[in-house]
Amino acid sequence: MSNFQSSRFAGLTAYVPGEQPRDRRYIKLNTNESPYPPSEGVLKAAAEAARSLNLYCDPTALRLRRAAAEVYGVTEDMVLPVNGSDEILNLAFMAFCDRGTPVAYPETSYGFYPVLADLHGIIKREIPLKSDFSVDFHDYLGINCTVVIANPNAPTGMALGPDSVERIVEANPGNVVVIDEAYVDFGAESAVSLTKKYENLLVTRTFSKSHSLAGARLGFGIGDKGLIADLAAIKDSTNPYNVNAMTQMAGIAAFEDNGYYMENCRRVARTREDTAERLRELGFEVTPSKANFLFVRHPEISGGELYEKLREKNILVRHFSKKSIADYNRITVGAPDEMEALITAAGEILAGAGGKSDAKE
Ligand SMILES: *Cc1c(COP(=O)(O)O)cnc(C)c1O
Repeated sequence: MSNFQSSRFAGLTAYVPGEQPRDRRYIKLNTNESPYPPSEGVLKAAAEAARSLNLYCDPTALRLRRAAAEVYGVTEDMVLPVNGSDEILNLAFMAFCDRGTPVAYPETSYGFYPVLADLHGIIKREIPLKSDFSVDFHDYLGINCTVVIANPNAPTGMALGPDSVERIVEANPGNVVVIDEAYVDFGAESAVSLTKKYENLLVTRTFSKSHSLAGARLGFGIGDKGLIADLAAIKDSTNPYNVNAMTQMAGIAAFEDNGYYMENCRRVARTREDTAERLRELGFEVTPSKANFLFVRHPEISGGELYEKLREKNILVRHFSKKSIADYNRITVGAPDEMEALITAAGEILAGAGGKSDAKE
């Protein structure tokens, strides 16, 4: 830290993203990327767009908004494209919370929510999960806060049904409810259609997980046009060209090839179910995930030790030090051969652990 930093940020604890190691090749199951490449159409569109990189991109991303509106079944003034959905979350925290309006979110959820609250000086209300890790929608009825819920939730993968989401939105007419649907395409039900009925619902989406574009940085906010106008005003006041030209064109092409991506999501969902079953056979407890990751613990080995031992075998998963979930690891569902390697490695590690948590070699 320098002597020049604004006192506003003196206590800031930054979000720490999952590792992106460049030192050696891992089977990378730690940041929920897609194991499948972008479609040919996306590769062509991005290359074509690169020819015009001397020019600014369209700050309104009009063609991309039209493509998104068509696929999501809304109007183009209900969509705001962003530089990854982390950006729309930041805009939403800025637009819809302040010191007088706290933000409520599940205590175990996406680690960016508390960081954004602290960044903007917003009071946090962290709502515990039930003992089975599910979100109890009753906790959010009439809560009188801005509400943010990842659905499916991370890192558990567990989803709320659309009726529960609607109850939350309906019961908080004076506050914005943000439903973060980063993982919805892997088997949960979307609340996007409710954005036409409720002016206080903002749904966020990302192309990082389901559409093989994590490196391109593309996400969307979908909501009533009033909400979108509020968010766009902050976007235009901070970074009007937030989605670059190559990503805009890649995004349009990805919507055109949506069937390819939806098929990949179904493949991932099938691999998830196979992998969950085989992990259970090895004695793992596995939460019922609707996302592209599994959240697992084993009674005979600590979460930290399993993480380290998998890493020694060149398999990278995500371990969180937060106490309530330190027994667990979050494992991205990759391609079938990657999951085969994971199962083999986990079996070897458990055999080596001698079936006892205190048996270290
Ligand atoms: C990955 C993730 C995001 C953000 O993804 P971007 O890459 O910024 O689009 C948002 N919410 C949740 C719950 C996520 O897991």
